[in-house]
Amino acid sequence: MNLSHSKEFLKDDYGRTIKSLRMSITDRCNLNCIYCHNEGSTGASGEMSVGTISNIVHVAAGFGINRLKISGGEPLLRKDLEEILLALPPLKDVSLTTNGVLLRERAGSLKDAGLNRVNISLDSLDEGNYKHITKCKDGIFGKVIEGIHAAVDSGLTPVKLNMVLLKGVNGSEVEDMLSFVKQFHGDVILQLIQLMDFGEVACYHVDVDEVEKELELKAGCVQVRELHHRKKYLIDGAEVEFVKPVDNTEFCANCNRLRVTADGKLRPCLLVNDDLVDVSHASVEEMPELFRLAVSRRVPFYRKRKEM
Ligand code: SAM
Repeated sequence: MNLSHSKEFLKDDYGRTIKSLRMSITDRCNLNCIYCHNEGSTGASGEMSVGTISNIVHVAAGFGINRLKISGGEPLLRKDLEEILLALPPLKDVSLTTNGVLLRERAGSLKDAGLNRVNISLDSLDEGNYKHITKCKDGIFGKVIEGIHAAVDSGLTPVKLNMVLLKGVNGSEVEDMLSFVKQFHGDVILQLIQLMDFGEVACYHVDVDEVEKELELKAGCVQVRELHHRKKYLIDGAEVEFVKPVDNTEFCANCNRLRVTADGKLRPCLLVNDDLVDVSHASVEEMPELFRLAVSRRVPFYRKRKEM
C-alpha cells in the first residue's frame, strides 16, 4: 500500500499526538451489563468489512499510530476476527477488550493471527454477583474464568482484568480480586476502573479516592503511566492499575487515542457524539484528510472545569 502521508504525525490543537487507535468492530454483545456505556455506541447497525478495517489501520499506521485496541460490543462475536488480525499492518501493540465468554476456544488462534494481549472484563469473582451485573445465564462465569486461563496459556499476556467499581455491588471485592491475580505470578494485572456515568447508573458511584488511598497504603511501589496519567500499584506481587476517566483533566491532557465506531466513523472523544467523521466509504487515498479532520475536532472534554 502506497501511503504518501507516511512520516507525518497527527497532532491536535492541544499538542496531543495521536499514538493509538481504539476500534469497535461490532455493537453486538452477548452480555448486558447493568452499567455499560457500550463505547458510546450511536446505535448504528452496520459493521465494517475486513477490507475497511485493514485500510483504516494501514492509514493510521502511516501516521505513526502503532497501537491498536479492538473492542465492541463483544469483538469475539465476529467470527472473522482472526482474518481481521491477519489483514493488519505490523504494529507495536495489538490488544483486544473482551468479556472472555468465547475466549477459551479462540485464544490460541487469535495469538497465532497476531494478537499480542487481551483485557478481560471481570467485575466480580462471585458467580451470583457476576450474573447480577452481566445479566447472563448459568455457566457463563465459569467460561470467563476458563477464558482467562486460556489467554495466559496462549501467551496473550499481560492479561488485564477490567473491574469497574460499583457501589453496593462489588466495592468489597477488591481484596479477593487481588488474591486471584496473584496466582498468575505477573501474567495477570488488575485494572480498576472508575464508573463513567452514562444514563441511570449514578447509584453505583464509588468514592474512588478512598479506594486509591487504601491501595497506596498497601502498595510497596506506585508508578504513573503516561497514558491518561494512570497510577500503577504493586501490592504483594500483584500489579494494579487505576483508571480514573471521570472529571479528570489529566485523563484528557494525556489522551493520545482516536476511536473508530463499529460502522466506520472516526470518533475524536468517547464522551462526545456529534463530531464523528465517516470513513466507511472512503478510499485509502481519501482517508488521510478525514483523519486530519477528525483530529482537528479533538477537544479535551474536561477542559472547562480546569485550565489544561
Ligand atoms: N465486550 C467487551 C468487554 O466486555 O470488555 C468490550 C466492550 S466494553 C464496553 C469495554 C470496557 O468498557 C469494559 O471493560 C467495561 O467494563 C468498560 N465499561 C463499560 N461501561 C462502562 C462505564 N459506564 N464506566 C466505566 N467503564 C465501562
